Amino acid sequence: MKNGAPDSRAARFVAVTTSIRRENDTNRVGLSTSYLQAVKNAGLIPVLLPPVYDSFTAKATLARVDALLLSGGGDVDPSYYGDTERHEVRGLSRARDESEIALIKAAREMCIPTLAICRGIQIVNVAFGGTLVQDIRSDWPGALAHDESTRTTRLHSVTLEPDSLAARALQTTELKVNSLHHQAIDKLGEGLRVTGRAPDGIVEAAESTDPAWWALCVQWHPEDLVEEPLSPDRGIFAALADQIKAE
Ligand code: MN
Repeated sequence: MKNGAPDSRAARFVAVTTSIRRENDTNRVGLSTSYLQAVKNAGLIPVLLPPVYDSFTAKATLARVDALLLSGGGDVDPSYYGDTERHEVRGLSRARDESEIALIKAAREMCIPTLAICRGIQIVNVAFGGTLVQDIRSDWPGALAHDESTRTTRLHSVTLEPDSLAARALQTTELKVNSLHHQAIDKLGEGLRVTGRAPDGIVEAAESTDPAWWALCVQWHPEDLVEEPLSPDRGIFAALADQIKAE
């Protein structure tokens, strides 16, 4: 190592999943740059994962990174949770669903620290046998508006379990969050527990019950809130960084 050069062995990599989007007659892979900034601000290096993985390639890939971040995006195909399309579903991609389910199962088996955001909490739940509320407005009586927020507006409150990963990361049990989803966890998947809800009961945070697998799942978009002065949401990404360094 040259004088003062950073030690590349200290670098920590977060694999971030991406979406497929149709643009100008071409299928393109994409990701909001907010994730990149939030990960970089926490001292971690983002690497992007295209939606191409099966169980073998998921394990081989996760063996070379330090953490997995499941990003937001379109709805999970209802067939993955034993349902049919009963409401308008948005942005389905079976390629992305299959790839992310393979990554989630590999991450749990390998105990790779995992942060799941928005669609991420939903696909984690589905990967372990859970189901989704397919359209909150249609299927959840008394629901608040969960899909009328801008990316940087804190629309509704969330109450967190005091002993949860989310509460420790955010250093509070009560906060307001942005909300850009029309689906949510319904029946909980195996090996997960609910750790946060909106006032209408919609699940907003969950985590792994396996102490060996650090997996923090949130329904809102902390990556779009980290630019706020004193944003508690920076704590989500800091907690991921701390977990990686502790391993
Ligand atoms: Mn919400």
